[in-house]
Amino acid sequence: MKAVFLEEVGKLSLRDVAKPVPQPDELLVRVEACGICGTDRHLFLGEFPSRPPVTLGHEFAGIVEAVGSSVSAFQAGMRVTGDPNIACGRCAECHRGRVNLCHNLQAIGIHRNGGFAEYVTLPEKQAFALPLTIGPLHGAFCEPLACCLHGVDLAGIQAGSSVIVIGGGVIGLLVVQLARLAGATRVVLVTRSEAKRRLAESLGATATINPSSGDVVDRIVADDGLLPGGADVVFECAGLRETVEQAPLLTARGGTAVILGVLPSDQKVEIEPFDLLFREVGIVTSFLNPFTHRRAAELIASGTITVEPLISRTVGLGEAVDAISSPAAGGEIRTLVVPSL
Ligand code: NAP
Ligand code: ZN
Repeated sequence: MKAVFLEEVGKLSLRDVAKPVPQPDELLVRVEACGICGTDRHLFLGEFPSRPPVTLGHEFAGIVEAVGSSVSAFQAGMRVTGDPNIACGRCAECHRGRVNLCHNLQAIGIHRNGGFAEYVTLPEKQAFALPLTIGPLHGAFCEPLACCLHGVDLAGIQAGSSVIVIGGGVIGLLVVQLARLAGATRVVLVTRSEAKRRLAESLGATATINPSSGDVVDRIVADDGLLPGGADVVFECAGLRETVEQAPLLTARGGTAVILGVLPSDQKVEIEPFDLLFREVGIVTSFLNPFTHRRAAELIASGTITVEPLISRTVGLGEAVDAISSPAAGGEIRTLVVPSL
């Protein structure tokens, strides 16, 4: 089969390798689609540690081709999405139920071969069924959606809450939809691209703001702003110093800023603890997808979350090397690798 390998930092190649054989507790999955995430580009550049040579790709879904001898809940022909993050189940964090903080976390597509390939093996405990009736590419959005669900769970949105989402990439556009589902009545999305602002409005944002055309905090928080005093919950989904600094300033008294965006590891930001304390603004960080993948699969399976307009383009495995090693194209939301192309 064909698979895209990270050979070493800065070097990707398309290899012809033997089709993998599932272990007794694994499924062999024929990949239908696998999303190219910012993390794949960071892995390529060596900004996140990985274990090359390894096939990248952690946002995948596909059709079960074969099952190992001890697999009981899945059979050939079923569509599945994989939770790529494998916790050890034995460390102190796993025992506390904090599996995303597992000391021995292993990820499919980072530490073991992932979804930029015709086939991937998936432990049964990491697999979740999807109906055959949904769009064949939609399952690739379960993983990013599961990460967004964790952030939304941590945020404590109530019916009638107000929300600001900073960043209109795939994460921001999924969070906009989840915030509405969770009961937020006003959801303001901040992003530069006009096309993404229009899309956000069609997905449930009640207002959008272009950060390039004036001070974001003023235009939202001021007495005559969009949400005077700020929002009950602010989601930082851009991963920039400037936007992390904005998040607490956009949060109302007693509210919560949730940081989903990933900054470079040495980046520092300026936060004013006095302001946080006297307005009792909480800052929480949200990492990965602990126990949220099943709900993400349900939201995709039921069509409750719209993902079709988030697909910017599809590429075959032959074009994947180029797509992963180049920066995201302007306006790109998600590029999916579709091995059958
Ligand atoms: P993305 O596609 O790069 O989205 C980021 C968006 O931020 C861009 O679409 C960009 O759109 C927008 N942006 C740039 N400058 C901005 C500004 N000044 N104000 C507001 N928006 C601005 O990335 P993504 O896939 O959606 O992921 C978002 C972040 O979440 C990344 O840092 C990613 O690493 C992180 N992430 C975290 C987790 C987790 O578990 N915590 C999981 C997945 C991803 P415009 O140019 O239109 O503004
Ligand atoms: Zn563990």
